[in-house]
Amino acid sequence: MKTELLGKSKEELKAYFAELGEPGYRSGQIYHALYRERNLEFAGMSNLPAELRARLEEEAAITLPEVTRRYESKDGSVRYLLKLAAEGQRPASVEAVYMPSEGRQTICISTQAGCAVDCKFCLTAQLGLVRNLTAGEILAQVLLPLAEHREKLAPQTNIVLMGQGEPLLNYEPVMAAVRIMLDQKGVGISPRHVSLSTSGIVPGIERLGQEKVRPRLAISLNASNDEQRNALMPINRKYPLAMLIEACEKYPLRRWEHLMFEYVLLGGVNDAPEDARRVVRLLAKVKAKVNLIPWNPGQLPFREPEPERVQEFHRILLAKGIPVFVRTSRGRDVMAACGQLALVEVKGS
Ligand code: SF4
Repeated sequence: MKTELLGKSKEELKAYFAELGEPGYRSGQIYHALYRERNLEFAGMSNLPAELRARLEEEAAITLPEVTRRYESKDGSVRYLLKLAAEGQRPASVEAVYMPSEGRQTICISTQAGCAVDCKFCLTAQLGLVRNLTAGEILAQVLLPLAEHREKLAPQTNIVLMGQGEPLLNYEPVMAAVRIMLDQKGVGISPRHVSLSTSGIVPGIERLGQEKVRPRLAISLNASNDEQRNALMPINRKYPLAMLIEACEKYPLRRWEHLMFEYVLLGGVNDAPEDARRVVRLLAKVKAKVNLIPWNPGQLPFREPEPERVQEFHRILLAKGIPVFVRTSRGRDVMAACGQLALVEVKGS
């Protein structure tokens, strides 16, 4: 069986090359070629001697997911449907989305195939959990679009762990992938530009706060009281708002950092001025920023909020000094906006 190299840390590569009887510095060379240069084939790694490349072809692998569909949006976004088949893992499909914009590109990646959390506004939830992704499968979703768009990359890359899955329920592989993304000798993305979004897994939030190297944290809030949140996000029964907000208040933010709260505005459900006022009270002791995401009409039984409601919600938060943004959906025409990943293909297959 070939040894999978994608997803291995510097130390793991070092141990592997020691086993091969190769000098230690070879691990640094392949780490650089793979993650920094995004050279995804041994043949192209010109910093390695030909003999070693031939040996790696025989004994090791860089397994990339198969792109089974590629949808291009008019706004330049690309949605990738990926078939994962790492050695020893159950086959599964996930999605990643590449979104170029002025001065940067944002890549939204998945951390699990399907998801067990069961948020009622999310299509992925309907799949249930298929399986956790490996660190290599998570990283591949970053490396593939970056390699594909190599010629026209903007200076800044943002990564959002906001696709399929709850990242904090696949903690180790997610963090192994994030460490390589954030390593300046690895993929080299700034910690300010990698965001992990959670439905509110309190023990995971506490654990993340203890990490030396970590992404920014975003909380998918979506409700202003427990009753509403229990109905929309059943995970709230396990980690109710008081517990979640307390974990947020205690979260050790870096000087430059805010906690980002995502709030999907569902017409007539959680978009009333009273909801906005309750959100203000909830976040009173948190250094927070809020992203309002007006619901995208789709296959689920929710409706878009009235534009006046969105404006009023925005106004109430802003008036209380909370930085608040309304997020416009990118790639809407290819179903690549938040909460829209996944189901179309799976249902059709
Ligand atoms: S919103 Fe996120 S956590 Fe909730 S079901 Fe969907 S993928 Fe899972």
